[in-house]
This record gives sequence, C-alpha cells and structure tokens, in this order.
Amino acid sequence: MSKSAAAPKVGLVSLGCPKALVDSERIVTQLKAEGYEISPDYAGADVVVVNTCGFLDSARAESLEAIGEALNENGKVIVTGCLGATPDLILEQYPSVLAVTGPHRYEQVMTAVHEVVPPRHDPFVDLVPAAGVKLTPRHYAYLKISEGCNHRCSFCIIPHLRGDLVSRPVDEVLREAEALVNGGVRELLVISQDTSAYGVDLRHKGAEWRGRERRAHMTDLAEGLGELGAWVRLHYVYPYPHVDDVIPLMAEGKVLPYLDIPFQHASPRVLKAMRRPGNQEKVLNRLSAWRRDVPEIAIRSTFIVGFPGETDEDFEELLAFLGEARLDRVGCFRYEAVEGAPANDLPDAVPEAVKEERWHRFMAVQQEISMAKLDEKIGRRMTVIVDEIDDEDGAICRSYADAPEIDGNVLIEEPARRLRPGEIVEVEIAEAGEYDLWGRMV
Ligand code: SF4
Repeated sequence: MSKSAAAPKVGLVSLGCPKALVDSERIVTQLKAEGYEISPDYAGADVVVVNTCGFLDSARAESLEAIGEALNENGKVIVTGCLGATPDLILEQYPSVLAVTGPHRYEQVMTAVHEVVPPRHDPFVDLVPAAGVKLTPRHYAYLKISEGCNHRCSFCIIPHLRGDLVSRPVDEVLREAEALVNGGVRELLVISQDTSAYGVDLRHKGAEWRGRERRAHMTDLAEGLGELGAWVRLHYVYPYPHVDDVIPLMAEGKVLPYLDIPFQHASPRVLKAMRRPGNQEKVLNRLSAWRRDVPEIAIRSTFIVGFPGETDEDFEELLAFLGEARLDRVGCFRYEAVEGAPANDLPDAVPEAVKEERWHRFMAVQQEISMAKLDEKIGRRMTVIVDEIDDEDGAICRSYADAPEIDGNVLIEEPARRLRPGEIVEVEIAEAGEYDLWGRMV
C-alpha cells in the first residue's frame, strides 16, 4: 500500500512565540484536513509558508533571514505572522514573495496556498467538503484523528491510496484541539475515514493529558474534547457497539448530539457486495435506543443508489429503511465506478437511466422526512453558531444538527443586533423550509 504520490506538499517554517505556534498548528491542521502533506524539507515542497516573529529586532532579523533562505532553497514562499503586519518591509527586501499576511490570518494563508498549489479535491477520497476547502472560517476547524482505513469496501480506493488505519496519539490530538480552541475555534469537526475505529492500530494506547490518562479510543477522545468548551461534532462514525458510549456525553452536552454515519445501503445483499457490515434490524434498534436517551440527536448519513447488482427489491428495501430510520440529513450518490476499485469488476451494472430514476425516488422520500423533521422544530429554541453575515446584516447560522457545508442552515433575517461570525446565540425557530430553518433571536 503506498500513499498517493500526487498529494501536494507544503513546507512550514515556524518562528516565534507560542501564539505564533498556535497559528502554525492551525495551518498544519487545515492543510492536512484538505489532503496536503507537510514536507520536512524545502526541496520536496510545492510551496513554503514562513510564520514569522517581529517582536524584537533580533526576531525580525531572524525572520527575514528565514524568508531569504526559503526563497533560495525553494523559490515559492508565503509569509505570515507578526512580521507580516509590515508587508512593505518584507516586499522591499524580497519582492518575489508570493503573499504576505499578518498574524492569526491563517485563512488568508490557506487562500494563498490554494492559489499556488490547489488542493486536489476528489469527492471519492476527501473528508472535507469541496466548498469547505475554499476558505475555512476561523471559528471552526477540522480535526483529523487518523489516516487510512482497515475496511475494504469494494467501491472505495482509500485503503489502496492511504493504506491501513494509522491513528494519531491521543495526547497529540487533544493538545492540537486545545491549541485550536485557545486560538479562537468554537467548533471542532472530528474527521477520519472511520472515527469509531480510532486507536485500534495503537491497541488504544493511553497517554496523559490534563493530568489524566486517556486511551486512544473514540470514547476517551470525545470525552477529552468535550472538556474544551467548544462544540464537538463527530463525523464518519460506524454503528459499532461502543458508539453507545458517546451517547451519554451527548446527553450531558459535552459532545453535540449529532452523528454522521455513512450507511451506504440497507439491503443485506448490496451491503455484502459493497463488503460493508450492516444489519438493518440492529441499526434500527440502535437508532431508537439513541433517540430514547437523547431525543434531539441528529443523524446524518450517505447512501449510494445503483450499485452493481442492486435490484428493484434491494432498492425498495432501501426506501423502506429510510421510512423507518427517519434520518435527519441524508446525502445520496448515484454509483460511479472509481478507477482501481474492486466493485468495477462486479456484474449486473445498473443502467444510468435506472440509477437516475432511483436517485429521484430516494430524494423524494427523504425530502419529505427531512421536511417533517424540520417542521417539528418550529416554536423550539435552538442554540446556533453564526457562520456569516450577509449583505443585509442577516446572519447565516447553524445549529447542532448542521455540519458546515453539507447540512442546512438556520437563518436570522433581522438580528436584534449586529452579529459576528463565530458568535453563539439563542433563537426561536419561526419557519422551516426544505433544508433550512428561519429563527428570531431571543
Ligand atoms: S470504510 Fe470503506 S468507504 Fe470508508 S474509507 Fe474505509 S474502505 Fe473506504
């Protein structure tokens, strides 16, 4: 198993104080989440980011020297950090620097990196939605906890590209999350190929963080993250039995009552051909147990229609499952062959027209469910995080039930005061649409 050779690589030179280090960590986190690799040397990097310090004259001199060295060794350099607050000083000496941004402007650093070496967005292998790659706002951050995957789903090439599961040590992840929260992040989005398998490769080896031993295990990780006071959202969770252990953390308000579980299908025959575990009855029992303990829990999932060999009966079974499971947010893909995936050799490909028709029927069934579930929220109070302010001062927000870019929004058309991105406010839901809600500040 080899890693993808084509992943773009970024070098990072970090100088300065602990605050600058937080920025560097944040930049590394986002780069990794978007599929970039961090190059240990100048020669292997497609671009080099120099995070500078400008506090003392000696630090300024050191920073300028580092910029010069990066330019000599690599040629493509982006400068950020405290010295970046005086771009003229840098550009006078080094006019070929590609971009200069000030301290804590890592989103601008990401934009500059994207311009030099765009992220290789591939919907089949990426964990971060394409739109999220454009500009990750300051108030939320993707926290990647592992790389690779031990499953061998027949439609997927991740294990081939990225290899088996390799988890990051638990203290490293928790420290990174802590640094992100200290740097202003209010929502952590935990991502991996299989979050529930976190730490299996490490035999759940423990490490100390904040004076206590924590295992490299989803439950301990969720518990630790829950201590940071930020929103914690778990993506790509498989319904293994130990997932039940994070439900009490949701009931206590430590982790958002949101689970993103890619079911992909419901027919045992199709799941078997996909080489995925799955037992509809067990899944439905699980869902009702979770809802019993945390009634507001929002479940998101994704499905594939038109997988090779999917019959009308299989598809009807999937629709019946949707009707019973009543999931909150659902994405549906028409099956597409991915180069190198074992599923390409399966017989009985489903004709495109049939895929299309199934996709429309699937979406119609789910849309009704989603709308009914959103309607139930009218009159309720919800806590929302502000993502953006629109031209008319209206606020585009999200509740616990909405992950950025992939789920809906809660819109406040006329906020009682001017809101800022990243603020968390209370609203009462007044209206519901197909995907979004409208609320009034309370
Ligand atoms: S769980 Fe399956 S679909 Fe997900 S990355 Fe692993 S092999 Fe691919």
